[in-house]
Amino acid sequence: MNNPLKKKYTVVIVGGGPAGLSAALGARAAGAERILIIDREIEVGGILNQCIHSGFGLHHFKEELTGPEYAERCINSARSADVEILSDSYVLDISPELQLEIISSRYGYLNLKAQAVVLAMGCRERTRGAIRTPGFRPAGVMTAGLAQKMVNMKGLLPGRRIAILGSGDIGLIMARRLILEGCEVTGVYEVQPYSNGLTRNLVQCLDDFAIPLHLSTTVAFIHGRDRVEGLTIAPVNEQYIPDPKRSWEVACDTLLLSIGLIPENELSTKLRLRMDPATGGPQVTSTLETSLPGVFACGNVLHVHDIVDFVSEEASRAGRFAAEVAAGRRRPSDNIALQAGANIASCVPQSLSPDRKQTIYLRVKQPVKNCILTIGDRYEKKFRVLTPSEMIRLTLAPEVLDRYFGENLKIDVRSQEVA
Ligand SMILES: Cc1cc2nc3c(=O)[nH]c(=O)nc-3n(C[C@H](O)[C@H](O)[C@H](O)COP(=O)(O)OP(=O)(O)OC[C@H]3O[C@@H](n4cnc5c(N)ncnc54)[C@H](O)[C@@H]3O)c2cc1C
Repeated sequence: MNNPLKKKYTVVIVGGGPAGLSAALGARAAGAERILIIDREIEVGGILNQCIHSGFGLHHFKEELTGPEYAERCINSARSADVEILSDSYVLDISPELQLEIISSRYGYLNLKAQAVVLAMGCRERTRGAIRTPGFRPAGVMTAGLAQKMVNMKGLLPGRRIAILGSGDIGLIMARRLILEGCEVTGVYEVQPYSNGLTRNLVQCLDDFAIPLHLSTTVAFIHGRDRVEGLTIAPVNEQYIPDPKRSWEVACDTLLLSIGLIPENELSTKLRLRMDPATGGPQVTSTLETSLPGVFACGNVLHVHDIVDFVSEEASRAGRFAAEVAAGRRRPSDNIALQAGANIASCVPQSLSPDRKQTIYLRVKQPVKNCILTIGDRYEKKFRVLTPSEMIRLTLAPEVLDRYFGENLKIDVRSQEVA
């Protein structure tokens, strides 16, 4: 088939989820001429296409939408802005000179040159192998996201009597979804002493449907040779070691795993970008540029977000900065380094510039109540509750940042009370 693609693009975006689509719009608003989104799926929209529940868009569109509705708005805006979309096409490799190798179902092998690249490949779910759950290897063990795709996109049920390991948001949302489809949900089992989901999902997905949440417990054994027949559930101690003496049996035919997300960074590591082990994504500057000039990152490939609205906000900035770099505009000089201090699990970006207003995204390691977040010794903010499942988003004005010019800043959260 004739290939309508150009050989050179101003900005090429890898991934057509909400991050990729918003990055394209940001690049267009900043004047980029030729913009291309590449996605491996037949339809762009990313994970949102399978999230048919509502609750998306309250910040970005100021109304409550389902995932596909949110995606549709982004796709329509990208199409009206003349962004080219190449779907059903996989980006195999990116060279340091920003030459992309692509395999496309329609056009075969392609090779394109970009002036700037935005990485927006999203994330994938951790599987049973990541936590090495003992037991047999029967059918019926799968990630919550796969079950979501089966139910919402293929009209298939993963089973009838479901147990869920891990209280991440996808697992909570699937607990409710499967009850609505007529399944039985035995409970959600969480190894931590606190939930890893958003409070609104705990209330609306578990409490409203009387689904029990068992904290500080895990699946100690999976029973069943061909199909899951049951689980041994055991409480864990502070070192997460299961206590077999206090274990109990649960009969079920399916185990869903909601045990965390991993940013999809195979392309980033091939490109030898400097990575941040705390986020699993590349390290970025205040303009979301990675350690390779001209390559930007945003959305879940950079760090896992709680809500898609903030993905769009971040990605739109990444697209704008990519367009600016492609046009040869001067980069701001980042002269403030950020460092995760007491009870901070991760912070993005890893450096700041006092030239303009900046947004910082943080997560705490442990839940705490009535705490104070400090940045260096000249900024503090009080919070009633902070939990690892809720990302902290701070916007700092240039006047505040100017006080830290040239410093290596530590961010700390301190409290005497555990939430
Ligand atoms: C299973 C699952 C369910 C979720 N449910 C919710 C929810 O209910 N509510 C919520 O707010 N958030 C949910 N999230 C989080 C959600 O992913 C983010 O809010 C948002 O979709 C992230 O946008 P993104 O564009 O960064 O990633 P994605 O939406 O994942 O999009 C990334 C895109 O990149 C493409 N891609 C990756 N690698 C390549 C490559 N090499 N070549 C070409 N294309 C590539 C993928 O096909 C995909 O379309 C869920 C996440 C997962 C994994």
